[in-house]
Amino acid sequence: MINIKTNLPGPRSIKILEKLKKLNGGYFDPYPYVHSNKGKGCYFYDLDNNLFLDFASQIASNPLGYNHKELIQIIKKYSRNSPVKYAGQDFAVKEHVELLEELLSITFKDLNAAFLINSGAEAVENAIKICMRSREKAKFGIAFEKSFHGRTIGALSLTHSKELYTRDYLTIPNKTLPYNENFVDEFKKLLKNYSSEEIAFVIVEPIQGEGGYNIASKKMIQDLRKITYENNIPLISDEVQSGMGRTGKWWAIENFDVMPDVMSAAKALQVGAVIANRKMFPESGAISSTWGGGHLIDLAIGKRIIEIIKKEKLLDNINKQGKYLRKRLNEICLENVRGLGLMNAFDLKNKEERNNLVIECLKNGLVLLGCGEKSIRIIPPYIISEKEIDEGINIIEMSYNKINENGFRHKGSICNYMNCGEHSA
Ligand code: PLP
Repeated sequence: MINIKTNLPGPRSIKILEKLKKLNGGYFDPYPYVHSNKGKGCYFYDLDNNLFLDFASQIASNPLGYNHKELIQIIKKYSRNSPVKYAGQDFAVKEHVELLEELLSITFKDLNAAFLINSGAEAVENAIKICMRSREKAKFGIAFEKSFHGRTIGALSLTHSKELYTRDYLTIPNKTLPYNENFVDEFKKLLKNYSSEEIAFVIVEPIQGEGGYNIASKKMIQDLRKITYENNIPLISDEVQSGMGRTGKWWAIENFDVMPDVMSAAKALQVGAVIANRKMFPESGAISSTWGGGHLIDLAIGKRIIEIIKKEKLLDNINKQGKYLRKRLNEICLENVRGLGLMNAFDLKNKEERNNLVIECLKNGLVLLGCGEKSIRIIPPYIISEKEIDEGINIIEMSYNKINENGFRHKGSICNYMNCGEHSA
């Protein structure tokens, strides 16, 4: 059960956050607490001994929650020797092949090889690179409105969720299609002006993540597959956020009965991965990285996560609890409740109300993440129970009523530390 004992951030957390604000050159507004490494399941403690319930799963990258026994065993196993990080593309470690085997056991049969890399953005970066390499005449790629594919320049060029991410950065050539069924007309127009060989790839999130948890219609994804097949254009499904079981199937695109040519994965997998048919990968050396496939703990944990999802039949729990969660969200009359499995969201009236709700819930010990313009995503660990969902929903309901009281204005030290619910990724 949630237990918040201090104002947020608490005194121990403040010390760290203040230093971070001064020294960190990147994101200036982390959530207003500092993680301790204590916790269990869907709950974690901060440095001030506040106990939170996590409906955000480290932005979908912590699928089994805190201190899962079997994952701790792995960490222990690797704590006796160093390094734990090898130059894994050049110098082989057995954990690399073990993760590849496990990963390929849950992907489409035709996608029978994978390249391991450090992050989601790098997975996307390499997915687009392997497509470009196989298409000599390619001049540009295609992405969708409101997409988020990462922040390296290639992936960022295909990212259209927020102007903040892209302003003033140079881009690789690309075109944008609307994220709805009308994309077909726009695509056909493009195909009149360019030969299909000039198109390097189309990249899509079957469920958009950072852009607002927008779920494509089955028709849209199936039309996209048809048009890309007919024109022999590689289709990349970006599964960095939605893959690895989050939607109740191993890969989000399975919900649309479609097989892509390439998939990018990361987050819940612990390492980045490009998954495709062996034939799509270029000659040796054309893609590589020092650490890709070389972090022993990440590799071993990624493998064990897949094994545990299989063993504990967590896809069933994801589907069951996802349905229950949406039912409860609908019961408290939230707007536009949507989702697949445990990848869910709802809308607020506007950005301000959304941010207020994220902060108010956090003050009461529930961690949520925003997305899109005015949405909140709910992405708890796969092991969540009905009782834990109820605990979180009660806080959402109570906080929602509070922020809608006449004259409600957010205040308190929490506001100095938090970019008012805004978060990105
Ligand atoms: N692609 C999608 C769909 C994502 O949601 C993200 C991150 O949120 C990325 C790519 C980039 O991943 P990373 O932040 O690990 O670079």
